[in-house]
Amino acid sequence: MLGAPGTGKGTQGKLIGVYFKIPNISTGEILRTAITNRTQLGNEAKAFIDKGELVPDDLMIGLIKERLAEEDCKNGFILDGFPRTVRQAEALEDFFNNVGLKLGYVIGLELAQDKIIKRLTSRRVCINCGKDYNLITNPPPEDNKCELCGGEIIQRSDDTEETVSKRLAVYAEKTKPLKDYFQKTGKLKIFDADSTVQKINKRIITFLT
Ligand code: AMP
Repeated sequence: MLGAPGTGKGTQGKLIGVYFKIPNISTGEILRTAITNRTQLGNEAKAFIDKGELVPDDLMIGLIKERLAEEDCKNGFILDGFPRTVRQAEALEDFFNNVGLKLGYVIGLELAQDKIIKRLTSRRVCINCGKDYNLITNPPPEDNKCELCGGEIIQRSDDTEETVSKRLAVYAEKTKPLKDYFQKTGKLKIFDADSTVQKINKRIITFLT
């Protein structure tokens, strides 16, 4: 899944994963869980995330290789939030070549910046299972407990207006070049993210099947 923060990579990645019965691997979620559990990875990543910056490439490349070696990835997987730099993309390509994996598709999501800012600052998320809510389009239940798991629903510390601007600038500088990188592979398909979750999902699934 390729796209700026707030374009719906996580939401669509999860739905595609359910459809094909493969895991959606979100590096952001792995890092947030590590922060909640106060692991060494979490402690190292927290300062970068809170500032809206990227966690260093070497740390992320090591983390994703470990995750992809797990049993549930053997029939395929979706990557949501990785790679985020050209260096990560190159490392992933090397890794795929070394272990005999093949890149299927790159699903790109695009949305105008003003809409991204509105979406991210009104986003809320379950601290336990990661389910997304949105104050405008999909408000959390009145008791603020997740309808899936009962976990507490919070605003991500990096979804404040100030950090969102920084994340979008980092995206433009470090991640947007991946569009060219993947265009060259012939595997990139761009979708307009300015629609409902269900409509976008239908278009993606139609394309993939
Ligand atoms: P996300 O949930 O994908 O928006 O990720 C939240 C934050 O986690 C990002 O703003 C980065 O600080 C960090 N992060 C997630 N994935 C990566 C990655 N592949 N490379 C570097 N930092 C990452």
